[in-house]
Amino acid sequence: MPKLVILGSANAVPDLMHENTHMALVGQEQSVLIDCVGNPLLRFQQAGIEVNHLTDIILTHFHPDHVSGVPSFLMNTWLLGRKRQIDIHGLGYVVERMEKILEFFDWTNWPKMYPVRFHPLSDQEMVTILETSEYRILSSLVHHLIPTIGLRVEFPQSGKVLAYSCDTEPCEEVVRLAADADVLLHEASGETIGHTSAAQAGKIATQARAKALYLIHYPTQEGKLQELVNEARTMYDGPVALAEDFLELSF
Ligand SMILES: [Zn+2]
Repeated sequence: MPKLVILGSANAVPDLMHENTHMALVGQEQSVLIDCVGNPLLRFQQAGIEVNHLTDIILTHFHPDHVSGVPSFLMNTWLLGRKRQIDIHGLGYVVERMEKILEFFDWTNWPKMYPVRFHPLSDQEMVTILETSEYRILSSLVHHLIPTIGLRVEFPQSGKVLAYSCDTEPCEEVVRLAADADVLLHEASGETIGHTSAAQAGKIATQARAKALYLIHYPTQEGKLQELVNEARTMYDGPVALAEDFLELSF
């Protein structure tokens, strides 16, 4: 059964228990990393995910708390002897900038580096990024400070749906991504430009008729995590929980 493993749940400032937000979608055939930050190799080891099983990386937007782990992750897996190709998906400007960063590391001269392919995504709504027999991943632009995608993942075998807001203000695009979803994973950084509060995330979950809400990309520094859950509950009647690091959700 495919599962989503939360590898990090903090906003842009991590702490010892919460890495920056990123996650892995683990299937029988292949796994997909959604954002790549901190040291994903260690996270994979801690979560017991086979790193050679990973085939794709989706980069949601080009902020350091979402993409800064790519060069070290590629280098680590190359040094471990990886042969299998990795496909990196992101909006045009994201994959372009990532290629430039890798050029600074002179990566084309790493001996026997495995193939990496970049796939620029369209900025249209509900674009299919990737489809396997286990899941279909769709993206839409959301409302962050820079062009950013949110995701909808449909699991044909169970009929279940997962939606992930990524970093965004409350917006209709997320309501549509999360329409009737079994799980909405929504950011709760706070009510500031380009972000969402926990209460606003609750309102989005209600509007989307999502069956469960998990808060992610939340501030960890103030130690008020339970208050975020309570805040979301004021706007949403369904189950609300924090997405903590290493949480697994099966689909
Ligand atoms: Zn962020």
